[in-house]
Amino acid sequence: SVTYNFCAGPAMLPQAVMQKAQSELLDWNGLGTSVMEISHRSKEFIALTEQAEIDLRELMSIPANYHVLFMHGGGRGQFSAVVNNFLGKQGKALYLVSGSWSQSAVEEAKKLTCDAQIDSINIAENTNGINQIVLPDLAKIDQDYRYLHYCPNETVDGIEIFDELDSPWPIIADMSSNIMSREIDVSKYAVIYAGAQKNIGPSGLSIVIVRDDMLELPSLPQSSIMDYGLGVKHGSMYNTPPTFAWYLAAEVFAWLKDSGGVVAMAKRNLKKAALLYDFIDSSDFYTSKVCQSNRSVMNVTFYLANEELNASFLKGATDANLVALKGHRSVGGMRASIYNAMPIEGVEALVEFMQDFAGKNQA
Ligand code: PLP
Repeated sequence: SVTYNFCAGPAMLPQAVMQKAQSELLDWNGLGTSVMEISHRSKEFIALTEQAEIDLRELMSIPANYHVLFMHGGGRGQFSAVVNNFLGKQGKALYLVSGSWSQSAVEEAKKLTCDAQIDSINIAENTNGINQIVLPDLAKIDQDYRYLHYCPNETVDGIEIFDELDSPWPIIADMSSNIMSREIDVSKYAVIYAGAQKNIGPSGLSIVIVRDDMLELPSLPQSSIMDYGLGVKHGSMYNTPPTFAWYLAAEVFAWLKDSGGVVAMAKRNLKKAALLYDFIDSSDFYTSKVCQSNRSVMNVTFYLANEELNASFLKGATDANLVALKGHRSVGGMRASIYNAMPIEGVEALVEFMQDFAGKNQA
């Protein structure tokens, strides 16, 4: 029977995309060779990258004054790239901390600058074991920050911020785990970046959407391959890009368009998440530690009331072809990552298994 993979990343990719990739693995575009084995500067590959950008721009309604970069370095690569690209020796930045990835972004930023340049505010509050985001009144902060950095979806904690930030400074968002999961207004952001291995394609690629005026800011000395300005100038080909990951991302974009785009995905994603959270809420056997308004639509974290059953739950799930449900080691429990590629049938199968497991193990 079908295996449903709930891994947080690298994650499940759309089955139709994988089947197409398999069928043309050894002979892409009638060239008699795979896409992995051709020059990134060949006219066929350039055509692929141009179409990928057109499709991504259409999917996210990216305005014309934004550049799109296809880069190396994953999500963490961008933690350092944003610092180096936008902070000169004097510039300061503010980081909102909502969970483990935004915390890592702060640590990287502090490592690369003197600490005095990076301010951070913890916006995750834990009340009686329930995590909740409390956004500060940013307008009250009298500082001249070059940017505000935050992570709208914390992959590890299962916390998502749905409200738009009202920021006096340019907003940089790490959308690694929720890009294209729902509609957003790109014009509200100065920079959006995402590691590919959740909603875009395989690892090895990251996408950066950057407003053109941001490239005018004084920057710190940095490696050329992470320099956004150079990337723009060279069409994301200052050095050899991860071509296979780029190809698969292009196929995912085409699949998304065929599937009704981000609007249709968002509808489907909400349905999947509601199915799972409603079941968790209806059962004493499972609990969520995230308040209703910040429950991630992409990464559903939950706990068994009796944690001694964790190993048995994971084994039973794997035996039922529901794999990679173990929560991140830093928070324990379980996590079902249900990105765009996860069909509703996968979530239905998970709920059915959870129901069955609870029935068999209820005290
Ligand atoms: N940011 C977020 C929100 C993530 O979920 C991850 C990885 O899971 C990263 C950053 C780091 O990405 P990478 O491992 O590609 O550096």
